[in-house]
Amino acid sequence: AHPVYAKIDGPIVMIGFGSIGKGTWPLIERHFEYDRTRFTVIEPDARQHDFLRDNDLAFVDTALTPENYRDVLGGLLAPGKGFCVNLSVDTSSLDLMRFCREIEVPYIDTVVEPWAGYYFGTTDNAARTNYALRQAVRDEKAANPGGSTAVSCCGANPGMVSWFVKEGLLTLAKDLGRADAAPTDRAGWAKLMQSLGVKGVHIAERDTQVRLEPRPRDVFVNTWSVEGFISEGFQPAELGWGTFEPWFPPNGHRQETGCQAAIWMERPGAVTRVHTWCPTPGAQFGYLVTHNEAVSISDYYTVGEGQTPEFRPTCHYAYHPCDDAVLSLHEMFGGGITQTEHHILGEDEIVAGIDELGVLLYGHAKNALWFGSRLSNEEAKSLAPYQNATGLQVTSAVLAGMVWALENPGAGIVESDEMDHARCLEVQRPYLGPVEAHYTDWTPLDDRWSLFDEDLDFNEPWAFRNVLAT
Ligand code: NAD
Repeated sequence: AHPVYAKIDGPIVMIGFGSIGKGTWPLIERHFEYDRTRFTVIEPDARQHDFLRDNDLAFVDTALTPENYRDVLGGLLAPGKGFCVNLSVDTSSLDLMRFCREIEVPYIDTVVEPWAGYYFGTTDNAARTNYALRQAVRDEKAANPGGSTAVSCCGANPGMVSWFVKEGLLTLAKDLGRADAAPTDRAGWAKLMQSLGVKGVHIAERDTQVRLEPRPRDVFVNTWSVEGFISEGFQPAELGWGTFEPWFPPNGHRQETGCQAAIWMERPGAVTRVHTWCPTPGAQFGYLVTHNEAVSISDYYTVGEGQTPEFRPTCHYAYHPCDDAVLSLHEMFGGGITQTEHHILGEDEIVAGIDELGVLLYGHAKNALWFGSRLSNEEAKSLAPYQNATGLQVTSAVLAGMVWALENPGAGIVESDEMDHARCLEVQRPYLGPVEAHYTDWTPLDDRWSLFDEDLDFNEPWAFRNVLAT
């Protein structure tokens, strides 16, 4: 028997029914008491409609736009109840969350997404950063504090990894023989990270999921939204910028307004490689793809403020996607083309592999600690239907975020860092497979190519200068 966490009165609207929407629905079905006849999906892609029809799910065949979203959502939602679950691309998270808060409907999304056209139609690279997208949501929170709960960026990453940072810090404290109680506010968590000597965090991921068929040329293959990955891959590389960094990238830019926790580089993230570490491969390359959590985690753990705080960790994504996605990126950036045929690996065609997604907390007395989920596709299939391992790490975070939102109805706009990580992980953990802590002696100075001189910083092994591959 699966725990039923809450009763949701009134209409539930799910925006987008791609790989994540399709996997989230069975978890809603399983863990909430709700009226299925008042569950509506907004999905403009006809390829998803057969599944919706086969499962008797009501849907609206409309793409939300800046012109129609108030009418479409207003016609489906009811003030003061229900839920709006946004799992789409090409819709403005900020506009949708504002509207939901206006009519006091709980809201959740997994990314700060802009309206269609923004990612490729904006020529100003600074404006195309996740920093800018996130700051607009933070500004909205500051201008309108409190009120109806809207959870921003609550997937696997951004999302769950913020809860792993906290769990990892508590694990590290215990393993260093300290008796810290779990902090109860942001300042307490930031002080804990600082006092543990953590210099930075990689969101270190290795996806080894494979199918038997070799990747056909001209098809972009991934384990989650191809559109989402291409969009973020073409955004500038971006990272939360730590106070310990002795060097600044020559193509880097600071931010003049907002929290100033992050910098961006004049290069697409998906061709910017970094040296990182995961339990399965050990040392590996990851792509420094921009992600909301790189900014939010560096911001949340800041002691002080502005561009020269007392303490701030470096934080960035270091993503080795599935092998077919690596080849797809290679083809896309090398050929100067964007493949129009997209394929998301289904749970039944994947024959092996895991999505190993965790946080690598580095620079402290025990060098580095990777804390994360090592969920296999095989296990994911036994836990919940219609999704691969990657999907389940995301959808179970959406579930946890929905439970938290219902238990905290007047919390205003929040990010995952600001939620009760223990409660969220309690809800999510049954879906994460092995959740493990691994210490390593590896630093970015190891496993280099000794026949070639590199311009490295030998005094600070974890310096971003050493992490960034040349
Ligand atoms: P997907 O590409 O499989 O599905 C997206 C769906 O949105 C599609 O079915 C598409 O038809 C629909 N859509 C497109 N334009 C729309 C519009 N204007 N109005 C309504 N619907 C529209 O993507 P996915 O893998 O299901 O991912 C969904 C979202 O979740 C993406 O934004 C993605 O970036 C995000 N995501 C977050 C995480 C995380 O860990 N935080 C992980 C995976 C995906």
